[in-house]
Amino acid sequence: MESRPADVDAGHAADLDELVGIDRGRQLCECDHGDDEAYAACGRKAKWRVTVDCVCGENHPRTVEILCSRCMRTLRQSHGREAITVRPL
Ligand SMILES: [Zn+2]
Ligand SMILES: [Zn+2]
Repeated sequence: MESRPADVDAGHAADLDELVGIDRGRQLCECDHGDDEAYAACGRKAKWRVTVDCVCGENHPRTVEILCSRCMRTLRQSHGREAITVRPL
């Protein structure tokens, strides 16, 4: 009986493939376009990963949002350029 360590490593490689597959999935903008009563997702194709600093003065942690170009621009106007960091998805 020979031991074959290569077979043990194969399991890890499969896990990595799965993670990459999730990242490649189509992502939609989750910006809320609804009113106070109902949530309505924007649903456009998301292009940006946006990190948002707290601007209310209560030191909330940063939040990350996945947004389309239009909602990213709206957010930049309401929060100011310094408060948000934009990266392409
Ligand atoms: Zn806040
Ligand atoms: Zn949007």
